[in-house]
Amino acid sequence: MWFFNSPEIAFGEEALSYLERLEGTRAFIVTDEVIVRLGHAARVAEVLKRGGFQVSIYDKVEPNPSLETVRSGAAAMSEFQPDWIVGLGGGSSMAAAKAMWILYEYPDMDPEGINPIEVLHLRRKARLVAIPTTSGTGSEATWIVVLTNVAERRKLGLGCRDDLPDIAIVDPSFVVGMPPRLTADTGMDALVPALEGFTCSFHNDFSDGLCLKAAELVFQYLPRAYADGNDIDARTKMHNAASIAGLGFGNSMASLAHGLGHSLGAVFHVPHGRAVGLFLPYVLEYCARGEPGSTRYQELAYHLRLPCATEVEAAAALVKAIRDLQKRLDAATTLAACGITRTDLDKGMSLLVFNTANDNQTVMSTRIPDDKDVARIFEYAFEGKSIDF
Ligand SMILES: [Zn+2]
Repeated sequence: MWFFNSPEIAFGEEALSYLERLEGTRAFIVTDEVIVRLGHAARVAEVLKRGGFQVSIYDKVEPNPSLETVRSGAAAMSEFQPDWIVGLGGGSSMAAAKAMWILYEYPDMDPEGINPIEVLHLRRKARLVAIPTTSGTGSEATWIVVLTNVAERRKLGLGCRDDLPDIAIVDPSFVVGMPPRLTADTGMDALVPALEGFTCSFHNDFSDGLCLKAAELVFQYLPRAYADGNDIDARTKMHNAASIAGLGFGNSMASLAHGLGHSLGAVFHVPHGRAVGLFLPYVLEYCARGEPGSTRYQELAYHLRLPCATEVEAAAALVKAIRDLQKRLDAATTLAACGITRTDLDKGMSLLVFNTANDNQTVMSTRIPDDKDVARIFEYAFEGKSIDF
């Protein structure tokens, strides 16, 4: 048995005004300092106040939020006693909001212990709205929580089905004018889970269509949003694509590019979207050399209108399409291009391999690499060589 979960989604122009209709009295916004500086937090607070809310803003979420941040935010939440929590920002703020919400409802819980097996009953104190300010993570439409254990330089894939936001506000006005590099990095974070949600071993009929649509939208509109940050049609389509990808992979799983990307991000602080985007073509090449019949590249390529006469041809066409997209986005395609040196790689390798092997997305791959293969993938990705093993 498995489930399909979705928040209520308000999308398109003026979607933010939906907040006015929330019933409650106290709203706690979880965000970061950049979002405050951009005026987004004030804008959201304004709409909530119009709806009769008292508002508190917690703006201390850092990129790759730590367990400590989650504990401190939950403490502030307990003091304020909100009946609505608003996760406002990129994936970090939304993930932090979910984890803080869990600790607010279960003060004795260890955030590292949040897991999909144990059933939690949230919503006894508050409910959650998620408002993305980038188009990529899809966190507004998933129950996934990624936190970082800073001391151990390890990312923790946590979350439980009950921490899915009640409402997602997918309003493109938050992403108009987003800088090009952030657009490209976060945009790849919409594409990778869309493709992995479709190709991983947890794929299912309910999520397939969402993954395909999200991938199609990213290929079509990400280059436009990157080239012109004020192209409102491209922004709207990318913003929708990110949430659709979230629904898709959130009801399936991600896979090996995420296992590798989480590992790289925790060790070398490469932004999430850039890291998973970088690994995507290598992973496709690696999986294509796995057990015959294990992959679904033909079906995927068919829907993306790419050559797909055979599984091999489809895999090659997909790799080429991703490489072409990366070129148009001026994206890093090697570890060296991310500023990682040979010495860094050698020093970090055992931790990179350990992290990848222990990431819960790695086992969703149709070809699960052993430690030796993981190290070789990092080596090949360092140099930018096609996978031939
Ligand atoms: Zn991701």
